[in-house]
Amino acid sequence: MSKGKLIVFSAPSGSGKTTIVRHLLGIDKLNLEFSISATSREKRGEEVDGKDYYFLSSKEFKNNIKNDAFLEWEEVYRDNFYGTLKTEVERIWALGKHVIFDIDVSGGLRIKRKFPKETLAVFVKPPSIDELKIRLKKRKTESADKINMRIAKASAELATAPLFDVIIENDNLDKALNEAETLVSEFLNS
Ligand code: 5GP
Repeated sequence: MSKGKLIVFSAPSGSGKTTIVRHLLGIDKLNLEFSISATSREKRGEEVDGKDYYFLSSKEFKNNIKNDAFLEWEEVYRDNFYGTLKTEVERIWALGKHVIFDIDVSGGLRIKRKFPKETLAVFVKPPSIDELKIRLKKRKTESADKINMRIAKASAELATAPLFDVIIENDNLDKALNEAETLVSEFLNS
């Protein structure tokens, strides 16, 4: 099986990385396929099992850890596990496509360490912690408690930005989308 490349987008929750990843997935010539993560968190709103995530029970998730089925996994928030199944990357490479990840900073850096040459690791930086708070509140998908948990984590995540290959500042979405498209396109053609 020939290996494709790996494009990692990591950022604190609410930075806009999911919007950037969706934009890139809409550009056919990039030949990207989304890495569907497994998670033990509850399904939100319109999310679909097997499309947004593979929703697993905590028990199923832990069995997969035991069986060494993950390329990387993290307890991103307390009791909320997230991970990339090895079979997911194999599935996408078998399609002859490149993999794009929307994952937390530790997972992103772990993938970069495992596949240093094949991976472009991008950090999406929000304008400020205050702006992040506003965006998370506007999204109305998490309780106040969960928002505070995400904000507390964001400061630590911001400190890891220099470890990534590139940083995209998301203070203007159109600019960030253009920058992402150029970076990914150049990396895939290099
Ligand atoms: P959410 O609950 O908002 O969907 O995701 C919470 C966080 O978990 C986000 O930062 C998201 O990028 C991250 N995440 C999603 N999938 C994975 C994964 O497979 N591995 C890791 N390490 N983090 C993930």
